[in-house]
Amino acid sequence: MSALVIAEHDHASIKPATLNTVTAALACGGDVHVLVAGANAAEAGKAAAQIAGVAKVIVADSASLAENLAENVAAQVLAIAANYSHILFPSTANGKNVAPRVAAKLDVAQISDITQVVSADTFERPIYAGNAIATVQSSDATKVITVRTTGFDAAAATGGTATVETAEGVADSGKSSFVGREVTKSDRPELTAAKIIVSGGRALGSAEKFTEVMTPLADKLNAGLGASRAAVDAGYAPNDWQVGQTGKIVAPQLYIAAGISGAIQHLAGMKDSKVIVAINKDEEAPIFSVADYGLVADLFTAVPELVKAL
Ligand SMILES: Cc1cc2nc3c(=O)[nH]c(=O)nc-3n(C[C@H](O)[C@H](O)[C@H](O)COP(=O)(O)OP(=O)(O)OC[C@H]3O[C@@H](n4cnc5c(N)ncnc54)[C@H](O)[C@@H]3O)c2cc1C
Repeated sequence: MSALVIAEHDHASIKPATLNTVTAALACGGDVHVLVAGANAAEAGKAAAQIAGVAKVIVADSASLAENLAENVAAQVLAIAANYSHILFPSTANGKNVAPRVAAKLDVAQISDITQVVSADTFERPIYAGNAIATVQSSDATKVITVRTTGFDAAAATGGTATVETAEGVADSGKSSFVGREVTKSDRPELTAAKIIVSGGRALGSAEKFTEVMTPLADKLNAGLGASRAAVDAGYAPNDWQVGQTGKIVAPQLYIAAGISGAIQHLAGMKDSKVIVAINKDEEAPIFSVADYGLVADLFTAVPELVKAL
């Protein structure tokens, strides 16, 4: 019994979501191998070999894998899938794009968004926006799994001594082609990797106020900036800042929510944060039910005061 982790990488380095996925794979029992499917990805392969607990890294290098097209990555996974009892993807946009293709081709049920490995065939996963936890058991020969990364600690990025093998890269499927990529450039930490996140809600009232009030706090704390869906829908914050059920799932060391009511769909994305601070002028706001520290105050006064105090 061996588990294969599909690495999230940029061809030169391994992205943090891979480390949490390795921890989940180790909990399945058996050896853990990591597939780095990329182009000129030897450096990423070397980095993967350093991850503690990984026995083998397979580097599949091909021009067809340069842009991470899901059809080609899925074909690469399928080319070696027969060797594995478990195939695990981080539950990121990439992972969620490839995993269902692999599951369908193997004719097995995908086990989505697991937060715990109970045993090699039994897993926990949140349902109803995290209000209930389902325990699912799979009798499929190959378990194709996506891993909610906030549910597992990151494996150590160094200290491992995995062997590195190369595999022949698949040919281009011809089913899709790369047209272009628009990447948001930001000096701030990426939301899902940020240790501190400050998030603003509808209470901010405008994009200008959002920037004026929340950015200095994020700057002081070197934090990622997040937002509620109401703030995003109103155009106060960009779409990729949305935290919650239909946004990003985060679990930083510190999450500061200012002017966010705490609807269940928002809580679903941040309630696993280690320390939650809520600033809201309504003492009945549901956000206080998950907050470790709550401040009943007007955020337009409280946040600038906090910035000054820091
Ligand atoms: C299918 C579905 C998916 C969804 N997915 C998401 C999701 O991913 N993420 C998400 O966030 N939401 C999501 N929502 C929306 C969610 O239900 C809420 O509508 C949304 O989270 C509310 O955002 P908010 O807290 O900013 O706004 P509101 O609910 O309007 O809350 C604003 C809060 O600000 C407080 N306030 C007002 N003025 C001040 C002030 N001056 N100082 C301090 N506090 C003040 C108020 O007391 C209030 O609590 C989803 C909804 C559905 C139906």
